[in-house]
Amino acid sequence: MSWQKLLREAFTSLDELSAFLELPLPSHSRFPLKLPRRLANKIEKGNPHDPILLQFVPDSQELLQLPNFTADPVSDTKARCTAKSLKKYRGRTLLLTTGACAMHCRYCFRQHFDYARGKAFEKELSEFKKDLSLDEIILSGGDPLSLPDRILKELLDQLESISHLKRIRFHTRFPIGIPERITPDFLQILEQCEKQIWFVVHINHPKELDRDVIEALKAIQRLAIPVLNQSVLLKGVNDSLEVLKNLSESLINHGISPYYLHQIDRVEGGAHFEVSVEKGRELIEQLTEELSGYGIPRYVQEIAGKKSKTLL
Ligand SMILES: *Cc1c(COP(=O)(O)O)cnc(C)c1O
Ligand code: SF4
Repeated sequence: MSWQKLLREAFTSLDELSAFLELPLPSHSRFPLKLPRRLANKIEKGNPHDPILLQFVPDSQELLQLPNFTADPVSDTKARCTAKSLKKYRGRTLLLTTGACAMHCRYCFRQHFDYARGKAFEKELSEFKKDLSLDEIILSGGDPLSLPDRILKELLDQLESISHLKRIRFHTRFPIGIPERITPDFLQILEQCEKQIWFVVHINHPKELDRDVIEALKAIQRLAIPVLNQSVLLKGVNDSLEVLKNLSESLINHGISPYYLHQIDRVEGGAHFEVSVEKGRELIEQLTEELSGYGIPRYVQEIAGKKSKTLL
């Protein structure tokens, strides 16, 4: 089945998902439900504590209003250089390629973000051309792999023509829900790109990695594109030594490098996922005693106004 069809068939109705999972669910949610069938099939029926369910299925606790949990926890609005780009750190700019994703993660720090519409990047490209300090463009969003190949190809061609850019980085979670997105055509587009590409995926729990997901990521690795992973530390999902260890082992067994473990950004609707920094540090310390050095992600937090992510 094509990835576009799989995307259209993702669960977006809470009633349908409730019947499918054999669980009562809230009747509505502010950040809409979006869950590809592959991920829904991984949820254990009738189990309200399932780690995939917790990440993607709306919960009534999202409606809690807490003073420190805000719509824009990492000051994206202030970092906006153009409608579709953010610059916080030296040498790299993040391009908001689209607001669309293959799945909606309940803890997403951009769930309230007011994305610009349209698939044109003229303004952004002309800024990138002018800014000689840039080495790297990060294709983010939303999820850049939501865009059709034709648009991605055009964008990569344009970026390739900017001589001071050295690298292009994808930040994507798409292949975790719909690995069918990694088509021969898409791989060809990557292969033809003359800049060094880096690929950063987002996996929080080892259940997200299955044979098809691994095969899709392997196809990217075969193009000499490094594949890294970032996770968010989430209560009930991966806040235990066992899960973090299994996750890192599954990643490094497939040549995927654990890059970051993010302290959750304090976004409105995400408070029930927060794990204390103290507990996070303890988990990383224990993990360090269990695994090879390259299996340990950097535990970081984004603090608005800093010149990089902050190591915890
Ligand atoms: C996190 C982030 C990056 C990437 O930071 P790295 O430490 O290089 O992974 C770049 N730009 C913005 C705006 C970010 O939020
Ligand atoms: S895939 Fe990324 S951008 Fe999209 S909802 Fe999940 S965390 Fe947010």
